[in-house]
Amino acid sequence: MSIASHLHQLFNANTCQAYIHTLRWKDRPLQCPRCQSHNVGPWGTYHYQPGLQRYRCKEQACKRTFNDLTGTLLDGSKRSLAHWLLATFLLCLACSSRRIARELGVHIRTGYRWCWWLRNAALSYEMERQLEGTVEADDLYHTAGHKGQAKKGGKKSLGRTPRGRRKKREPGRGHYDKDRPAIIAWISRQGGVVIQVTRDFTVKTVQKAADLAVQAGSQLYTDSASSYRALKGCLHECVNHTRKEYARGDVHENRAECLFSLLKPSLRVFRGISKTTLPGYVSFFQFLRNFHQLTAFEQAQMILYAALDPAVAGKARKGDFVRCLDHFKLLQSLIN
Ligand SMILES: [Zn+2]
Repeated sequence: MSIASHLHQLFNANTCQAYIHTLRWKDRPLQCPRCQSHNVGPWGTYHYQPGLQRYRCKEQACKRTFNDLTGTLLDGSKRSLAHWLLATFLLCLACSSRRIARELGVHIRTGYRWCWWLRNAALSYEMERQLEGTVEADDLYHTAGHKGQAKKGGKKSLGRTPRGRRKKREPGRGHYDKDRPAIIAWISRQGGVVIQVTRDFTVKTVQKAADLAVQAGSQLYTDSASSYRALKGCLHECVNHTRKEYARGDVHENRAECLFSLLKPSLRVFRGISKTTLPGYVSFFQFLRNFHQLTAFEQAQMILYAALDPAVAGKARKGDFVRCLDHFKLLQSLIN
């Protein structure tokens, strides 16, 4: 067993605990997670978890004890904090859950669950994002099927003929029902990215997507697709790719095209994505892009900071953030 493949063993348990302690109560008052009272005091430690401080709520009605991890995403985990820190860091380096599980020596289902929770925690930063200024938009169709969606594992009857690994896709626009949902990217020249997974690319869907992603009155540059040309509420100009026109002065969408050239290889890592989980992966990529000036360590710290907030952790475990950012379902409900 090489040292490099078990990096987490080099972490010191006390150092990790002190780091988590600082992050947990940074900019947050020390309070009881159950009754929110600030009337709390230290109450010993745990012999099996060195460095973990225990507190007791002094409120008469409560009198419960808690520690730095109570109510957070890391609460109740049998694995050490070093495992969690390293998993979050590897997630920000765009590793797959299987890769992370192997590097950490945990089960692949543990790796998958952690990745899903941590991605959800990261999405808490992306909930309110809306772009302004000069915005470029472009669309893409990504093959996404039913991976991992069988009820009890194993094979699921598809209700269609298998796609075949290298089968050529049908030409033209994709559709959710044809296992090729649309991805629309909005990228502001002043900074900021919003990427949405939608069911189709009709005028209605794109209008709703634009209303969510872009502030009214922004300058929008796109290609000449008819769904963009029908957009209301934005100053709109487009370049005509069919006439080999890719830039006309300031009017171009090269940033959006470039964003897709980064998105595609980052999705390739997972070797096939189910269309039900695609919004989660795409939104996490959006988080990484919006904080791309930070290092992976700093991004991991942001995710851990969110994961240590009981309010965020509760929603992250249930997948509420992905559900809110699932533009496929969101737009569907808005249109109907
Ligand atoms: Zn209390």
